Amino acid sequence: MRMTRKEFMSSAAAFAVSPMLADGGRKIKTPLMLDTKRMAIHDGPGIRTTFFVKGCPLRCIWCHNPESLSSKPQWARFQHLCRKCAKCTMDEATCPTRALKLYGKPMSMDDIVAKALEDKAFYDESGGGVTLSGGEPLLFWEWAVELFRKFKVAGLHTCMDTSLYAPPAAIEALLPYVDMWLPDYKAKNDALHKKFTKVSNRIIKKNLERLVAAKAKIEVRCLSVPNCTDGADLAARHRYLNSIGIPESAIVDLKYYDYARSKYLALGMKDTMP
Ligand code: SF4
Repeated sequence: MRMTRKEFMSSAAAFAVSPMLADGGRKIKTPLMLDTKRMAIHDGPGIRTTFFVKGCPLRCIWCHNPESLSSKPQWARFQHLCRKCAKCTMDEATCPTRALKLYGKPMSMDDIVAKALEDKAFYDESGGGVTLSGGEPLLFWEWAVELFRKFKVAGLHTCMDTSLYAPPAAIEALLPYVDMWLPDYKAKNDALHKKFTKVSNRIIKKNLERLVAAKAKIEVRCLSVPNCTDGADLAARHRYLNSIGIPESAIVDLKYYDYARSKYLALGMKDTMP
């Protein structure tokens, strides 16, 4: 959905005055949404709708979604599309070449569920459902618990695409509502993990082990970045995963591509990609 600045400001303001409340009246951290991908076939079983939240506590140098790092809205200008008009509209809806893009828009939980239900016939036919991705969805885990409750009430199969960098309480609260977990495991060596993602993997491993103990359905994704986390570290990750009870059939090795450089440029961010 393209939005004018005015529309964005008014919807963001309306969203901000109606924050979600947890039990006891505590405010719940609610994400802006980056994107909705319909007919997704790589985000869990079957045909799915994937919702992407904005905001991530990790800073992987190879991140191919730099627009997902900050939880705040961000404007991007794609130089290769920009015509350098005499007067820039500074407006996503009226830019003639779609060179401007606003990342991060509010979307209510009911709208997310309604959007997911639009393709329920495809999920039922293919064994698919809905996936929450990001960014890091567990940065907003209390919100995600409420959303997944609603997904389950609506009869939807649910997947969580996550780094697992989250407090154990998040995992416990979500376990009853997540049908399948799609965690990343970025590096076995903690020094490498800290060097390339800026956080330790200790809590990630603890959460992985908790998922295994709970007999949760898991498919672990292992990205291999040349000269960073390939070779020995990738082999060590497989060995560790096998040792805690995750079989090779539940591990997917992913190749690294550096196709996101134009997004760093458009966002005015430093390109950190190897
Ligand atoms: S309106 Fe669009 S194409 Fe024109 S200068 Fe602005 S960003 Fe570039």
